[in-house]
Amino acid sequence: MTNTYDAIIIGTGQAGPFLAQRLTTAGMKVAIIERKLFGGTCVNTGCIPTKTMVASAYAAHMIRRAADFGVGAGSGVNVDMKRVKARKDAVSGQSRAGVEAWMKTMPNCTVYEGHARFESPREVRVGTEQLAAERIFINVGGRAVVPQMAGLEQVDYLTNSSMMNVDFLPKHLIIVGGSYVGLEFGQMFRRFGSEVTIIEMGGRLIQREDEDVSSAIKEIVEREGINVRLNATCIGFSKRGGEIMARVDCTAGAPEVSGTHLLLAVGRRPNTDDLGLEKAGVSVDKRGYIVVDDQLGTNVPGIWALGDCNGRGAFTHTSFNDSEIVAANLLDNDARRVSDRIIAYALYIDPPLGRAGLTEAEVRTTGRSALVGKRPMTRVGRAVEKGETQGFMKIVVDAQTREILGAAILGTGGDEVIHSILDVMYARAPYTVIQRAMHIHPTVSELIPTMLGELQALP
Ligand SMILES: Cc1cc2nc3c(=O)[nH]c(=O)nc-3n(C[C@H](O)[C@H](O)[C@H](O)COP(=O)(O)OP(=O)(O)OC[C@H]3O[C@@H](n4cnc5c(N)ncnc54)[C@H](O)[C@@H]3O)c2cc1C
Repeated sequence: MTNTYDAIIIGTGQAGPFLAQRLTTAGMKVAIIERKLFGGTCVNTGCIPTKTMVASAYAAHMIRRAADFGVGAGSGVNVDMKRVKARKDAVSGQSRAGVEAWMKTMPNCTVYEGHARFESPREVRVGTEQLAAERIFINVGGRAVVPQMAGLEQVDYLTNSSMMNVDFLPKHLIIVGGSYVGLEFGQMFRRFGSEVTIIEMGGRLIQREDEDVSSAIKEIVEREGINVRLNATCIGFSKRGGEIMARVDCTAGAPEVSGTHLLLAVGRRPNTDDLGLEKAGVSVDKRGYIVVDDQLGTNVPGIWALGDCNGRGAFTHTSFNDSEIVAANLLDNDARRVSDRIIAYALYIDPPLGRAGLTEAEVRTTGRSALVGKRPMTRVGRAVEKGETQGFMKIVVDAQTREILGAAILGTGGDEVIHSILDVMYARAPYTVIQRAMHIHPTVSELIPTMLGELQALP
């Protein structure tokens, strides 16, 4: 027997639950399917648990620095990893339970727990249940890539998901991948007390950023004692005694690194390979991302794809924004588009990096005339007062239109401060609006108008 609904949502990540709320409130009968943990990646193995652990790591770091502030810290730092994990589990668990209860008590919404697979463009199977709907929304997210690297089968490795079970201090954590996930775990475990080596294939960390951002981040993590190995072109693994040997083959440094634990942080892939998409006729690109249009519709009318699985974003806020776009188009007669949004994200090392819009390098490739402003955090009063002067802020504006094209704030509070710039970008207002605004003293934000008053032509 087939259970028929107005809409089926596959996955309870960052788009599905909000969309279920909107659709049921509009009077639709909705089925939502989850195969594992309610709330998906962000809640269970991504943003929430990692930022909770980043907070524990920050506490350890500040205890080590206590004397800088004239404060005694007794016998030093004692990180209890079982308690760090318990705190993380409590915060993440509360969020997961909240999503689960929300879904299970939502009027007009039926929850199915199991793996969903398409049977046709209008039918989905979950275990023994057959569901049908005229509208199907795919919010299946992604998972860590396990790369093809020589000898990987000989050693045990961790991913961002299995890292969530770590309740001990790895003696020496080797991390392959010098981008967001690798850097956040790297600094965190260094602060907990592990020796940490980050191995990156490319010539610099976090390569999508400008070179000055990459090198400032390298300086920040190296200052804390993290060993960074760049240009690791031929990575391979073997076991020697109880140790994991990572062959690095870089241009500089020892050819091998020996560690006790290995974390793979080399990217993510969409959960689209086991969804039966071929039975629905839904197209994917060569990396498995579902191909969508500007309103997130797939090539099959009546099927949409939201969140990480569509390759149009890789963040919680992009997934949530996807759900707003779909709901606006379907329910509000409001033609919102993916292309309306401005790229924005943060890297949660300490100090954090807040980013909005284009990088300086991207602006250069457009060939337009631009102005750039830059200020080190050593010249930001609030940063000096807090004793957190690493990093810098940078902003690029269009010389003709005076609109802000992009900004990077690598410094204390950077993840929050970036929003004042982002909002002016959304308003498409000239940078002079923010330059003339009176900001609060003492804050990091108060120096943004000052920086805008010192713009130079982008060479
Ligand atoms: C370590 C780490 C840290 C991160 N930190 C941040 C951060 O600080 N800020 C940020 O914005 N983003 C962060 N992200 C990214 C963020 O977690 C994701 O972009 C976000 O979760 C968006 O997910 P989504 O809605 O696409 O799907 P997900 O949250 O991945 O959810 C998909 C859900 O679908 C379910 N599912 C999959 N296939 C099926 C199926 N066939 N049947 C039924 N159910 C299925 C899954 O079980 C899962 O629950 C981080 C990611 C990682 C890995």
